[in-house]
Amino acid sequence: MIIKCPGQDTRFWKPNDVYTVECPKCGKPVEFFKDDIRRRCKECGHMFINPKLNLGCSRWCQYADQCVGVIGKEEFKEIITLAMKEHYSGDKERIDNALKVLSVVEDILEHEEGNPKVVIAAGLLYDIGLQEIGKKPERAKKSDQEKDTLPAVQDILERSGSKPEIVEEVCHIIENYHHPENINTLNGKIVHDAVKLANGGFTYGTEDKENLKKIINEGFFTATGKRTAEEIYL
Ligand SMILES: [Zn+2]
Repeated sequence: MIIKCPGQDTRFWKPNDVYTVECPKCGKPVEFFKDDIRRRCKECGHMFINPKLNLGCSRWCQYADQCVGVIGKEEFKEIITLAMKEHYSGDKERIDNALKVLSVVEDILEHEEGNPKVVIAAGLLYDIGLQEIGKKPERAKKSDQEKDTLPAVQDILERSGSKPEIVEEVCHIIENYHHPENINTLNGKIVHDAVKLANGGFTYGTEDKENLKKIINEGFFTATGKRTAEEIYL
């Protein structure tokens, strides 16, 4: 007997769990179920991600892999990118910065063995998280037991169906961005280096190459990050 996950059983759905979204290409309405990851527009054939995707129920559900399937790296990247853009609602500068960090994260990932989902999510969402910490400085001082330190980041990750350990690691990396001494995982090191490289534009105030090499060596964690920084600054 196949036991159906109650979250996926449409008999328990609320009326707004089915909705229409305008096709980003042609503007015609496309119907989505809340757990549809993507749909194709019947009018123009454009395939696009569900902008209101909510896979929250799959995070804890033992049937998740049967009903929503395993979300691969590319799909995950697309879902988080879309949520990031929605959060910034047209703030081009912040969106471009997040995409730049993503591209450096992916370059580093080609040479370092990080967890793609953790580093992609932390890279795309770090600035949203830093903004949240900045708005409520007292939150940043709370202990690790606090679960609501980065609510917007958590919300995006939970809607994408991310497992609790992924949410926790991404938040930990972002929370410690200004405390590199607390970054003790390879994933955290990759994100730290990627954000630093992507933001670039800083000068080291020295022309002395040996000294510069030393500063870079101390300022970046990963071999790929150090090499890339040397290519840019030496
Ligand atoms: Zn269309």
